[in-house]
Amino acid sequence: MKKIFLMLMLTGSAQVIMAQKCYNLDELLRTKVHPVYEKHLQASRKFNIKVLKDTKTLTKYKQNGKLSPVKSLGKGYRIQNLSHSKPVLVHEAKNTLKEIAKKFSAKSKGSTLTLTSMTRTLEDQCRLRKVNPNASVGLSSHNYGNSFDISYVRFNDRLAVNSRLDKILENVLKEFEKSGKIYFIKEKQQNCYHITVRA
Ligand SMILES: [Zn+2]
Repeated sequence: MKKIFLMLMLTGSAQVIMAQKCYNLDELLRTKVHPVYEKHLQASRKFNIKVLKDTKTLTKYKQNGKLSPVKSLGKGYRIQNLSHSKPVLVHEAKNTLKEIAKKFSAKSKGSTLTLTSMTRTLEDQCRLRKVNPNASVGLSSHNYGNSFDISYVRFNDRLAVNSRLDKILENVLKEFEKSGKIYFIKEKQQNCYHITVRA
């Protein structure tokens, strides 16, 4: 009887721990990220936002006005259904996203971009890793609210290779990077540009 009780207690507490956390923050903070992402993470740390652990932390930052919701449709962009991230960004990132989309729209004479990912809590990241084991290990700039992904295979809400529009997008991003507003990386596995806004 005693033994069964102990077993129940053990499995019970194991379940509580699993339900609480699917990540180890200390371990994540210690994990070295790929060098090309290092400057992205450094840029994230300039916004005075602590790594977003879960929906509760994210809600707190929304309530105190540090993270702001991004509308699913705007001039030159649309956000696709986000399954592993939330449509919120720090103000600077939101403004820069709007500027990028506006410039793209003007240069492409009215085309739209597709955003495929935005702000991820560590919980979102755990879920993402389950479906995509290639998802980066360690922390990501998406965990701080100043990064977003733009597809380079989906323009005007159509999945198709369009090298003309991709070129226009890449040139806009290069221009923004040159003026010190962003860092970006072309992520071939994800078919997107990973963009990090600088403070
Ligand atoms: Zn990304």
